[in-house]
Amino acid sequence: MKIYNTMDRKVEDFVPIKEKCVSMYCCGPTVYNFAHIGNLRTYIFEDILRRTFEKYGYKVRHVMNITDVGHLTGDGDDGEDKMEKASRESGKSVYDIASFYTDAFFLDEKRLNIKRPSVVCKATDHIAQMIEIIKGLEEGGHTYIAGGNVYFSIDTIDDYGKLAKLNLDELKSGARIEVDSNKRNPKDFVLWFTNSKFKDQVMQWDSPWGRGYPGWHIECSAMSMKYLGPHFDIHCGGIDAIPVHHTNEIAQSEAYTGNKPWVNYWMHGEFLLNDKGKMSKSSGEFLTLSLLLEKGYDALDYRYFCLTGHYRSQLKFSFEALDMARSARLALVEKTRELLDSRNDSAVLSSSALEYKSAFDDAMNNDLHTPQALASIWKMLKDPGVADAEKLALIYYADDILALSLKDVKKEAERIGSDEDYALLEERSQAKKMKDYQKADQIRAALLERGFIVKDTPAGSILVKA
Ligand code: AMP
Ligand code: ZN
Repeated sequence: MKIYNTMDRKVEDFVPIKEKCVSMYCCGPTVYNFAHIGNLRTYIFEDILRRTFEKYGYKVRHVMNITDVGHLTGDGDDGEDKMEKASRESGKSVYDIASFYTDAFFLDEKRLNIKRPSVVCKATDHIAQMIEIIKGLEEGGHTYIAGGNVYFSIDTIDDYGKLAKLNLDELKSGARIEVDSNKRNPKDFVLWFTNSKFKDQVMQWDSPWGRGYPGWHIECSAMSMKYLGPHFDIHCGGIDAIPVHHTNEIAQSEAYTGNKPWVNYWMHGEFLLNDKGKMSKSSGEFLTLSLLLEKGYDALDYRYFCLTGHYRSQLKFSFEALDMARSARLALVEKTRELLDSRNDSAVLSSSALEYKSAFDDAMNNDLHTPQALASIWKMLKDPGVADAEKLALIYYADDILALSLKDVKKEAERIGSDEDYALLEERSQAKKMKDYQKADQIRAALLERGFIVKDTPAGSILVKA
């Protein structure tokens, strides 16, 4: 299997530390708000990565953290803790906020057929491990205390910034950002804040340096090493984590363990864009999965949409593009339904079917090329030289990775209303065709009274529970 390693900026053969095993750590959500569909794109990419390894015989240990403390509004240790800010604005406790948005996040993941990580761990449950690492760094001479905070000194290591290929001299002279005056080097970062910075911080713990709370980056070093050991295979996240968060994770972890490299492969998902650029929580303009569901889409329409782009390319969201993904997914579901009668359990595939199977495998093994993988499935479905039973077998085979619930397709389309409801829906479609919009609107109102919203999609009108 070949994957792109951000550290080397190239596609490389994946060589696991332990044969046929993959240890992978993925930076999880900061649970002060709903995940937006951009965040979810990154988790879909990580799910595809995991499923691909599993499909080809690897045993995957997948660890994901939940950031419930320490993530400040600014990347340079500036600003307020995002959780505390949400608490102040909503009047709810930080712990209630964390628990609410963590549940909401896993509901989104479930709807998107994202497998639950083998280990999900919360930052607030791992303060002791973080303190241990900071103590080790202090003993190794990598820290200093200024203004009550403990800082990591990047000048104590010789390869700071290697992941992002930072040019430190340029950064120093051209630094435009306002720098914390406690820092000896503008790129130094906080390992532990004491209460000197935010006096009313609710989440605080005792530490050898005073009561306070951790900087953001230390949590991922602490939890990944606790659950995967001091040297593991893959670390993932969105590309925005490269210049600061992952750079700092590497600095402190390698300084602490002496292991170089700490992680063998770094993989990053590109952004989901909207009209204005990167979709982001802080800009306040973002779409959630629930909003797509309210508009009548299925979560898997969004999953399909994500699969149409390679994870290392930017993907621009629009409702037109989502409609196209929905039509394609529904067509795939219909095709699967048509093929159900041909089901047979023969394991033998003809040579033409085998060719499509290897085209799919090649695409996935070539750095998770989902657009090519989907294209190979569509081509196969249109090929009269492949028997129906083989087509169905290949759809099921691909669905282990694509996870579009194609294996769950039943002979009868699932209906959420009675025969009468569907007769009304059909009558409305006819009225629309005849351009009798008044009648169509009346039927829509009648269906609403019966508890259904009518959604017009490119694949026809559907009923959604009101
Ligand atoms: P956060 O909850 O803000 O810590 O972000 C969770 C994950 O989503 C991180 O891996 C980010 O890198 C990633 N992310 C943030 N914005 C986007 C976006 N617009 N598109 C794709 N991934 C994103
Ligand atoms: Zn992280």
